[in-house]
Amino acid sequence: MSIADNLTHIRARIAAAARRAGREPADVRLVAVSKTKPAEAVDEAARAGQLIFGENYVQEFTAKAGAVSEPVEWHFIGGLQSNKVKYLAGLVAMIHSVDRLSLAEEIDRQWGRVGAVCDVLVQVNIAGEETKSGTSSSALVELVRRVAALPNLRVKGLMTMPPFFDDPEGARPYFRELKRLAGIVAAEVIPNVAMDELSMGMSGDFEAAVEEGATLVRVGTAVFGEREYRRQ
Ligand SMILES: *Cc1c(COP(=O)(O)O)cnc(C)c1O
Repeated sequence: MSIADNLTHIRARIAAAARRAGREPADVRLVAVSKTKPAEAVDEAARAGQLIFGENYVQEFTAKAGAVSEPVEWHFIGGLQSNKVKYLAGLVAMIHSVDRLSLAEEIDRQWGRVGAVCDVLVQVNIAGEETKSGTSSSALVELVRRVAALPNLRVKGLMTMPPFFDDPEGARPYFRELKRLAGIVAAEVIPNVAMDELSMGMSGDFEAAVEEGATLVRVGTAVFGEREYRRQ
């Protein structure tokens, strides 16, 4: 199947999952995760109507962003070292992976330098897996409070990556928990914080994520095919 066919199929599955949950399909945005894929694949997806692309690796992203010719919106979704934030400033519309104050402070500094404001999601490591980034659920509210106090950032919601399960139903409790945590943060009514976005769900489990309230699903393999290598 072509990238365009894959996108058509995924959009239909997102819409069906949204309707099953009594949600509007338009309230769910697809982030096509293009890591390890060439600029040509991004352009092909963009010509098939895809707007938002997600990238994980700074160097790969900056090279690709310069080579893509279609107008697209970039989201950074991967683990991020503070010393690389300067390469992203002004180029990405949203960072999904803010998991510590020092990273947020550097984003604030670098976006301030280019005179812009960065939309961010706070990543939560709900299962407490050592191999994954993300703040603990117990530290979440305090982190959001401190991130939201930075002038060049806007906290738009939360992101999570559940443990891997073969069965997408295994991930569902983690999606439900992220939504519950967003409710807890929202109830704190912190200035500069909107819990509008829940970034959750990947190729294997995005329908369960949409049923549980995802507004951004990050789908790579199902759009572009298998990745040939995985840099971690
Ligand atoms: C790679 C990646 C995805 C996409 O994974 P697929 O299984 O290929 O859909 C989503 N989110 C993050 C954070 C990723 O690193």
